[in-house]
Amino acid sequence: MKSFDVLIIGAGITGITAASILAREKNLRVLIDEKRTHIGGNCYDCINKDGLLIHLYGPHIFHTQHKSVWDYLSQFTNWIDYIHHVKAFVDKKHISFPININTFEQLFNKTFTRNDVISYLEKEKIDLLKIENAEDMVISRMGKTIYNKFFKNYTRKQWGMDARQLAPEITARIPIRFNRDDTFFTDPYQGIPENGYTAMFKRMLDHPNIKLITGKTFQDIQKTINFKALIFTGPIDEFFNYQNGALPYRGIHFDFKTYDQEYYLPVAVVNYPNDHEYTRATEFKHMTQQKHPKTSLCYEYPADSGSDQVSPLPSYPILTPESICRYKAYQDAAHQLTDTLFMGRLGKFQYLNMDICVKQVMDELNAF
Ligand SMILES: Cc1cc2nc3c(=O)[nH]c(=O)nc-3n(C[C@H](O)[C@H](O)[C@H](O)COP(=O)(O)OP(=O)(O)OC[C@H]3O[C@@H](n4cnc5c(N)ncnc54)[C@H](O)[C@@H]3O)c2cc1C
Repeated sequence: MKSFDVLIIGAGITGITAASILAREKNLRVLIDEKRTHIGGNCYDCINKDGLLIHLYGPHIFHTQHKSVWDYLSQFTNWIDYIHHVKAFVDKKHISFPININTFEQLFNKTFTRNDVISYLEKEKIDLLKIENAEDMVISRMGKTIYNKFFKNYTRKQWGMDARQLAPEITARIPIRFNRDDTFFTDPYQGIPENGYTAMFKRMLDHPNIKLITGKTFQDIQKTINFKALIFTGPIDEFFNYQNGALPYRGIHFDFKTYDQEYYLPVAVVNYPNDHEYTRATEFKHMTQQKHPKTSLCYEYPADSGSDQVSPLPSYPILTPESICRYKAYQDAAHQLTDTLFMGRLGKFQYLNMDICVKQVMDELNAF
């Protein structure tokens, strides 16, 4: 039987960062096991049959305010200096998003100043005694016109539910900018790994202390390996055999199309709140800056997702009072275990951006 200091389940950005830190900084022998046949988890990218670099599980743009995270990953990659832009297709026009002064001008076909935007919102916003749901949250800040054009149908497609049925938190962080800043993220560090995420991950795993197994589940290998500690980045409910019930996720079905033209969309991502069944389309070449006569797009169709075994795979945790309570029961069970850490988006039942996955691993393993 082979022996390791740490067994890591899942080779997504969380598991790979953990393996890299434990091997390089703690000099521990690590086995990382991934049930898919490739590494990278949902950040995996690859070359498609037309020779175009695509993100198989939807567009991933790296952005962070944490210099420590940026510096850590920069040991393994150079970055394409990419700043993310998104448009919303509304009233048959590609309109600036997130909402800023340009958005109002493009929507209403007249000039707006900062003060015009402030007075528009002042006039349109609906004063409510209590913010009870995701619709209230938007209409109390921006009014019904903006809500109906940008948020109402998008939210319904994204979550399969009316915004009135969803918690206010879902729409609480939607920004309105009183300037003309059209960039999607405001973090000081933004980019795409120069040769892709998978290439960066391969370099992170390239260390004599790290062994990788792909195509096998934890259950497949568990009894064949000796390990002193376990880091589990798969679904926490699956680990405990769904003893408290399955944790609910919204999934996404990704549909890829290659077009025989150099570019197709004006920017990398276009949101479609009111047209089509898909929520958004991504044209990867804007992000990867690949030179190629063709272009590849990915269309996202949100859908119900049962568990990690069912397609579409779980993408966004559905946070309701009931699901949070169910997760807490799993967390209590996890605390009973010694030498086992649950990490990452599935281990913690949280929506986590990539940088936060890396940050959490750095912080938690410092104490390891
Ligand atoms: C559509 C979409 C777009 C996103 N875009 C961005 C973005 O632009 N920027 C950003 O910062 N973040 C983005 N994110 C978030 C990002 O995808 C996550 O931060 C990241 O994938 C989480 O990594 P992870 O390692 O925790 O989980 P995962 O990537 O899910 O990795 C977990 C791994 O564990 C494996 N596994 C599970 N169970 C087992 C088992 N029993 N045995 C063996 N292996 C197992 C899985 O196969 C998987 O490979 C996006 C998310 C979605 C859904």
